[in-house]
Amino acid sequence: MNFERQNVQAMSGYVSGEQPDQADVIKLNTNENPYPASPTVATALAAIKVESLRRYPPPTALPLRLALAKLHGIEADNIIITNGGDELLRLLLATFVEASETIGTAAPSYSLYDVLADAHGCKLKKFPLQQDWLLNPDLADQLNQENIKLCFVVNPNAPSGVLNAVAQIENLLGRYKGLLVLDEAYVNFVDPEQQYDCVALVRKYPNLIILRTFSKGYSLAGLRMAYGIGSATLINPMQYKTKDSYNTDLIAQTLALAAIADQAYASNTWQLVRQERAMLTNALLAMGISCPPSQSNFLLAQIPAPLNAEQVYLGLKKAGILVRYFKVDGLADRLRITVGTPEENRKLLIALQPLLG
Ligand SMILES: *Cc1c(COP(=O)(O)O)cnc(C)c1O
Repeated sequence: MNFERQNVQAMSGYVSGEQPDQADVIKLNTNENPYPASPTVATALAAIKVESLRRYPPPTALPLRLALAKLHGIEADNIIITNGGDELLRLLLATFVEASETIGTAAPSYSLYDVLADAHGCKLKKFPLQQDWLLNPDLADQLNQENIKLCFVVNPNAPSGVLNAVAQIENLLGRYKGLLVLDEAYVNFVDPEQQYDCVALVRKYPNLIILRTFSKGYSLAGLRMAYGIGSATLINPMQYKTKDSYNTDLIAQTLALAAIADQAYASNTWQLVRQERAMLTNALLAMGISCPPSQSNFLLAQIPAPLNAEQVYLGLKKAGILVRYFKVDGLADRLRITVGTPEENRKLLIALQPLLG
């Protein structure tokens, strides 16, 4: 007897990057920040009294929403705090998408979108990015033509790291009739010279939801905290109807607040990652490995024939270095490599050398 819904029976689950137990493995496979969170987070954690956990936490994490509103120059009503970005993505489907409707993504993108669509029971259609990994300028027309209710766009894109400018996003928003979910999981690593900030667009476009997370930029992937930004009309039904009543816990709310309070520390880690991103891009290129221009904390390395990306992945693994290999169309000759500390990146380059023959 199988009690699962038919779509759940038929689906396969999300495959996460390997999370090894050994401490000596160099982990460049799941895009975590290579630096720890600010010391203010450690102080805040030490100050938490078990007694304070007797009560329920603020149900909508209002203190954190107020602090984020100030940080972004918006209102607390424009923000929902979620248990990781993944919860926000699930809420978006639960709140805005009928199972009979079709959603979309500019692909390749985040493989979790497929899993969420399968679990929800709706269809996900993929709209290819251009050769240069940028959005197709006609994406809005394509989406409207196919009646796509909601579309996920990752910017900077994962797995390529390529960034679309604000004008390109605005061009899409202005013409697309459905709901645009702009997944900005990696936005903290964008070079300030790019002047990329889409937050102000939520005032102008009632069909925009932006995803932000503490997992990457604030070095808190283990905490499971993220937030959505959008017009109150989009935020309210998730905030007051579909989310769990106490979806984020008191410890997580407290630590997230401490993390954003120390912007100077976090932005210094972003700067260090950008420096190493440039170093690694050049060093790989000197070895004959090219990567699209990344504004993220990872590189999508193209392993030139006759070398085989899977073999290189396995060779690195043997050397104690994990990177991500996706055995799917369009990515089978690539490795996604998270930018690590200078020491980790140096070891990566040393381990790569003999594998390239
Ligand atoms: C990491 C990531 C997220 C969110 O991750 P959480 O840890 O659940 O906050 C969302 N989208 C993409 C593309 C990501 O890589």
